[in-house]
Amino acid sequence: MRIGYGWDSHEFRAGVPLKIGGVVLPHDRGLAGHSDGDVLLHALTDALLGAVAAGDIGGFFPPSDPKWKGADSAIFVEEALKQVRKAGYSVSNVDSTLILAAPKIGLHAGNIQARVAELLGISPGQVGVKAKTPEGMGTENAAIAHVAVLLIETPKPKTSPQSRRKAPGTKRSRRR
Ligand code: MG
Repeated sequence: MRIGYGWDSHEFRAGVPLKIGGVVLPHDRGLAGHSDGDVLLHALTDALLGAVAAGDIGGFFPPSDPKWKGADSAIFVEEALKQVRKAGYSVSNVDSTLILAAPKIGLHAGNIQARVAELLGISPGQVGVKAKTPEGMGTENAAIAHVAVLLIETPKPKTSPQSRRKAPGTKRSRRR
């Protein structure tokens, strides 16, 4: 098993659509960022990359690269998932906490859960989505996301050429 953890924050800005967990939420302001500012998907990307010690989101998608301007953050999650699979792991479950003054996440938590599950190829029951308000911490104009992931080793296929070659007691080794 491997554990991963990611954190991100973005400032609210008028005139930008609000996207959290790959879902557009009705609100008068959105999150400012080089990409679509999806704070939850950025924290998720870092959690996935961190779990397989593959670096961080900035290493794969530098904010200095104009290619990622306004990018759909689902692209970042897809790349991180590719790194997880390359390392031989699958996602077991994800848990997340959002901290923001508004809008209320409760109404949208189910949609966010479903979208994150879809992006990761797991079921909604494997994705925790929780939300809190800053309670006077002075971060009222920002959205913050914390994400933890648990990975499990993907079972290796039993009939790969490599495992056949290495398996003791095969015809080839008995002949010698
Ligand atoms: Mg970010």
